[in-house]
This record gives sequence, structure tokens and C-alpha cells, in this order.
Amino acid sequence: MATGTLTISLDAVVQNWRALDAMSQSGVQTAAVIKADGYGLGSDRVAKSLANAGAKTFFVATAQEGAKVRQALGPGLEIMVFGGHMRGDTDIINDLHLTPLLNSVEQLTRHFEALPSAPFGIQLDSGMNRLGMEPGEWAAVRDVALGQGPALVMSHLACADEPDHPMNDFQCDVFLEMTAGVQAPLSLAATGGTLLGPKFHFDMVRPGIGLYGGLPFADATPTVHLSLPIIQVRDVLEGEAVGYGNAYIAKSARRVATVSAGYADGLIRAIGNDAKVYAGDTVCPVIGRVSMDLITVDITDLSGTPDALDILCPHQTVDDLADSAGTIGYEILTSLGHRYERRYA
Ligand SMILES: *Cc1c(COP(=O)(O)O)cnc(C)c1O
Repeated sequence: MATGTLTISLDAVVQNWRALDAMSQSGVQTAAVIKADGYGLGSDRVAKSLANAGAKTFFVATAQEGAKVRQALGPGLEIMVFGGHMRGDTDIINDLHLTPLLNSVEQLTRHFEALPSAPFGIQLDSGMNRLGMEPGEWAAVRDVALGQGPALVMSHLACADEPDHPMNDFQCDVFLEMTAGVQAPLSLAATGGTLLGPKFHFDMVRPGIGLYGGLPFADATPTVHLSLPIIQVRDVLEGEAVGYGNAYIAKSARRVATVSAGYADGLIRAIGNDAKVYAGDTVCPVIGRVSMDLITVDITDLSGTPDALDILCPHQTVDDLADSAGTIGYEILTSLGHRYERRYA
């Protein structure tokens, strides 16, 4: 079979959720961020597993993403939408019982006019300047909003993956000021904030990447294993080139495997410069350029020719692979392609 096998461990996702849940006190709810199709792992499968483990609140980026999650979960559990209540989303929010996190006075007005008795949350900007009401806006609508009983009042940290960054305490103080006297449940922390400690936990933590085994949750259990079949093997002589642009020239005789997966499968071109794959415990360098469907690998040091090589495995996590591409684990996960045979374990 000329397609890679992506094995996704839902048990590992649950284990990570439980480990993150154990970091906060028992009164603090641990939600689950499953936007971008569960960071590429499948939001339906992830949501169901975490619901079985006890997660009660799920976060998606858009109402459209919420539809797949509602279908998987059925009625009851809460699905919150970071993007809030956008024009055109009223029906889907209403029909599927999604809870938009209202980001602006405009969204608040839209929601209260269209769906006056439907649940909502409030997203505040505490300094990141990405989503949420600024202090002035919030002051203007605060009494009206709180009168309607928001399900959550939340904000988001910009630098939580850097524990010593002064922005963390600064944003925490801004959030405390903006929510003084608020009775609704409060939330500030994603994965990074969950790791920062109790001061950042408030009533709910909202980890995403940590559930999927990525940094900044350094003790996370990896959730994905990706194995790529070798399609062809050849001997390359000293001085011969491999791949597009003759980007690799053999300095000595080499044995080269052509492996089935490329940038169309999420192996972004930037990994090409120093990516590695593994044959069991033996490391093999990726050589030449990543092409759409294929990469080429120097397997000279292997004693035989395996059927497949691993690119995500215990020796190489999503963050290791991200390093070789100058990116972050989040991007590796959310780029995982749809040509792989996906196996859930
Ligand atoms: C993506 C996101 C999260 C989850 O962040 P992680 O770093 O993946 O844990 C939480 N809150 C908001 C507002 C987000 O956009």
C-alpha cells in the first residue's frame, strides 16, 4: 500500500487530558480545545473519547467546526465557539446549541437581537489584541451582558509558553480587573497557562495542544505515530543528484529510498533541510527536496531495506519534526494530511 499509516492514540489524548486536569484544583473544570478538527486528529473521535473521560466543555474556532462536534457528541455537552456569533451563523448556533464567545459589542448586539435566550460567553482582550472586547467596550456593555448570565467570561494569554514572561502576570492582572465582581465562570488558561499554576486557572482551564502531546506540555504522552512506506530503493553513485533542483548531490555512493508522503500530506517543504526518519532505532536523513507525494531518504547505514520508515515515533515527536522545519508542533499536527490511512488506537 503506497500510503502512510497515521496511528492516533485516543488513550494518549485521554491520558494527557487527565494529567492536565490533575494540575488544577478539583473545583476547576478542565475543558478541551478541539478546533482545527482536533488539531488534525479528528475532532469527532477526540470529543467522544474526552466526553467519556468526563470532559464537559469543548471549544472550536468556528460554528461550522462545532457542527461536526455536535454530531459526534449529541445534545447536552457544551460546545463553545471562539469566533463568536458571526453574521450568517445564527441558525447553526441556534439549531446545534452552540455557545458563541461574543468578541465585540457588534457581536453582542447581534446575539441578543437574534437569539435573546440562547447561551453565550464573553471573550475579553487582556492585552493580546487578537480577539475579545477591550476594557472600554466591556465597561460599556458589562452590565447588560452580565444581566443575561453568560456561561463563561474568558480571555487568552499571549506568552504563556514562556513562564517568566512579564506579559503573563500583566494579563492576569488586567483580567482580574475586568472581571472584578463578575459572578459568571472565568477562564484564562490554555495549555501554557494551565502549566503556569493555580493563579491562572480561575474556574476553567482550556488546554488544546497539551492534549495532543505537544509543547509546552513537556511531559505529555505522544498521540501520533506516522509510518511511511518505501516505494523504491536505488543505488546512487558519487556525484549523482537526487530530487528536484538537484538540491542533493551524493558525496559518496549512497543507497536511497523513495518514501510515499510529501508536502501534500503535511510534510511541509521546510522540513527538507535537516529532517530525519527512523527505521526502528536507526536514524536516516531525509535528502533532497520534499516533493508533493514523495521524500527521498539516505538508508545507506541500514543493513536491509525495511517496508516503511517512521517520521513521527518515540524518537521523533511532533515538536522534534517541527524544529527541523523551523515551526511549532501545532503546525505539524494541523497539517497532517488526509491521504494517510488513519487508525485509531
Ligand atoms: C487555541 C486556543 C486555546 C488552546 O491553546 P493551546 O495552546 O493549544 O492549549 C485556548 N484558548 C484560545 C482562545 C485559543 O485560541
